[in-house]
This record gives sequence, C-alpha cells and structure tokens, in this order.
Amino acid sequence: MDITANDYKKFLQCQKLFWLNKINQKKEKKEFSKQKQYFKKYVKDTFRQRNCFQIDTSDIKKACFMTAELINSDTEIIFDATFCFDGFYAMVDVFDIKNKIIYKIKPSSYPKQGYIETFRYSYYIISKFIDIEKCNFIHLNKKYTRAGELNRDEFLVISDVTKQVKYKNEVLSEKLSVMKQTLNSQKAPNVSIGKHCNEPYECEYKSICWEHIPKDSIFDITYTMGKHWELYEQGIYKIDEIPDDFNLSKKAKEQIELHKANSIKIDKENIQKFIKKLVFPINFLDFETFSSIMPRFDNQKPFEQIPFQYSLHILYEDGRLEHKEFLADENDDPREDVAKNLLQDITKEGSIVAFNKSFEISMIKKLARQTSYKDELLELVKRFEDIAHPFQSRYYYDPKFNGRYSLKVLLPVLFPENSELHYENLSLVKHGGDAAEIYGSLYMEDDEKFKQDVKEALLKYCHLDTLAMVMIYKKLKEVTV
Ligand code: SF4
Repeated sequence: MDITANDYKKFLQCQKLFWLNKINQKKEKKEFSKQKQYFKKYVKDTFRQRNCFQIDTSDIKKACFMTAELINSDTEIIFDATFCFDGFYAMVDVFDIKNKIIYKIKPSSYPKQGYIETFRYSYYIISKFIDIEKCNFIHLNKKYTRAGELNRDEFLVISDVTKQVKYKNEVLSEKLSVMKQTLNSQKAPNVSIGKHCNEPYECEYKSICWEHIPKDSIFDITYTMGKHWELYEQGIYKIDEIPDDFNLSKKAKEQIELHKANSIKIDKENIQKFIKKLVFPINFLDFETFSSIMPRFDNQKPFEQIPFQYSLHILYEDGRLEHKEFLADENDDPREDVAKNLLQDITKEGSIVAFNKSFEISMIKKLARQTSYKDELLELVKRFEDIAHPFQSRYYYDPKFNGRYSLKVLLPVLFPENSELHYENLSLVKHGGDAAEIYGSLYMEDDEKFKQDVKEALLKYCHLDTLAMVMIYKKLKEVTV
C-alpha cells in the first residue's frame, strides 16, 4: 500500500488513526482553498525565469516516473517533484536540481514543527536518490504591510531548515518500518484515547474510539486544567461519578454541583445589575471579518482580519426593534464603507452590545486606525457592553450548557422550540469561519448565481447573530422578574 507524507503526519498523531485511514482508503484532501492554491502559484512564479516543469500529480506513480526523467534532462526546476522508495512517496513543491535544494511552500508565518516533521519524511525518501544540499521553507512575512504592488522580496521569506530536517534522520527508518508493520496487521493497533485525539488535530474517528464515553461525561467539564484524564484513568467517565473531594477548580466544581443537582442557576441580582447598565436605544452589533494570505489592499498585512459585514439590531425603549445591515462589495477594500455605513446606522446614543465585546471593539479600533473616521469610531468604544458576560460569569447557568457559553451553545438550550434561532438550519454559512473563508475567496468566483447565494447566506448568518443577542437580552430580563 502506498504511503505518503500525509499518512506519516497521521501516524505521528496516532498509530490507530493511521491504520484506520489506510484501511478505509481515505483519499488525501486535495481541495485546498483557492487562497492557498493562489499563494503556491505566486511563490512558484518566482522561479519561472529558469527552465521549469510542473509535474501532473493526479497519478502519483506517473509523477515519480516523470520526475526521474526530468532529473536527467536540462530542466532546472521541477514543481511538485515526486519520489518513491519502497512504497513510501514524497513530494516537494520545488526542486532545484542543479543546486540540490528542495523547497516546501506554506502560507504560514514560520516553519511550524508539524511542517518540519513532514519535511523530514520527504527529505528521508528523496535522500535515497539524491544528496540534497539544502532544505528551504518558503513562507510569508507576517509583519509585511502592503503599499502599492505586492513586494515579493518583503512579503516572502525563505527559511533554511536544513539542520532541523536532517536532524536524527536515522530514527525515521524505524518509524517507517513500524508504519509498514502496522499496515500488515489485520487488527487496529491497540491505542487508548488521550490528548492525541485532539492534538494537533481533532481526529475524525472519535465516533469510533470514544463510543464508550457516555453523555454528560467528564469531558464536558470545563476549567479542569486537563484533570479529566486523571479521572478517566481511574475509570470515572460520568460527571455524576466524580467524587466530591476530587481536586478541581472552583468553576469546575460549580459545574459538577449544578449538573448533579440538575439545577439551573439564576443570579438575579447580578443579572439585574447587568441589565441596568444597558442604555436605550440598545444597539446589538456583530461584525464578520475575513483575512487574506496575500494582502489584497494597501495598509493590510497577511492574515489580518478585515471587517466586511455587520448586522445591527436596535431595540428602543418602547419595544420597537429595527434591523440594519451592511455587506461590502467583495471586489473592493471594505473598510471605509463599513465604517461610514456603521456610523450612519448606529444610534448616536445608547449602549452597543456585542457577544464577546473585545472582538468587536478591536475591529472598531482597527477601522479607526485605517479609515478616515477615527474620532467618531473611537467614541463608540466607551458605549460597549458584553452580553456574554452574564453567562461567562455564570450569573445564568444551565447544566445543558456543558460549561460553555457560545451563542451556538446557548440558543438551543434557551430557545429549544424556536427553530429560527438554530444555526444548523442555515445554509452555506453556519459559522464565522465559513463566512471568512467563503467571502475571502468570493472575488475570485465567476458564478454569479453562487455569489448571490453566498451573499444571502452571509446576511442571514450575521442577522441571526444579532437577533440571538436581542432574544438573550429579553430572556435575561424575563428571568429576573
Ligand atoms: S480517536 Fe484517538 S485513539 Fe482513535 S484513532 Fe483517533 S487519535 Fe487515535
């Protein structure tokens, strides 16, 4: 069975994950985001003045054959050079044949340890055929700020990681033989669940390996500082089974007590204090942001979050509710338009309420720095209140929250009957991450119908965020009566 660097990455996380993946013949995910593909192409273009060849990697065996042919030709640079040794396949983004340099391209600000590990694997395979002089990472400079044309020399960074990649290479051959033995076995390796199920990535086989973990388990307790693994080793799986004298944080203990008593905590005094701080008209505000690997606009850094949309529900003292929203044109720098429209829409007085206000405040401050509305925007900052606070501080706590307090956790518990308030009923955009990803690539789309659908989905998603805050505010008022 063919083994690739991606398999090696899985093996390093968990031997059983590696085995399950190969047995189930899971295909490697090839559908990189458009932004990542664009970044790789941009980097490869820096080599194009030399004699280059792009390998077609759709057939990995043919790709190896082609690479071998090209090495003995007058080609100087091979893109996606592919090698195979004893069933192990390795690919590098760029191979400089003459100078014996291999390059990996990653849209990150530094060569992360996980990347070094897979680079080691690739180097090990390639070094069976060629003496490699240098192993380089091409990544990006996070501090670079675009001004005019993208400046390749300032934006891209080449890090020489030869020493790290060649370090303890002999250990690799042992690992590769364990990988082969693992695959020859008919049975899954006997691996217990542990931290590795979530680190560095959440494993896709948790539904199998975690089957014995019951509902309302020790893993639903928050603020445990990793102590749930101590409980697990003692054979304690359910919250109800946790001994009262088990040493845990105050917050974790409170969660356990409320769970065992099946009791909802409502601290009326503190909830009332919070509500009294809010001044009408109350502006419930939520931003959506996107980031680009390659800065698209002046005064933008790689990965810098840029607000492109907001939803605003305004609740007046007489109970009237007004909704305003803005979604920027995906082809232009949205910052000036977002700032201008927000200042027109938001009331001149009254509180501004956000869920986890530090994010919305940081976006307002960014807009103040980067647009022509500095003073007006900074004035807004002092009017902010945080509607997550009563839940974060556990003034209101329902055991069904499982120690968490995000909008997606609160809504189905507080409003189980109201399907309008459930994110899973949305289409295309169900998370802030979806919104960022989909909007960030929208300017590259040609399909007008798809673009229209995405825009509608973005508006619905953001609308739900602020409507949810209004409903939560009303709920908090109701429980204190
Ligand atoms: S769930 Fe955990 S033990 Fe099971 S395969 Fe994944 S990482 Fe390994």
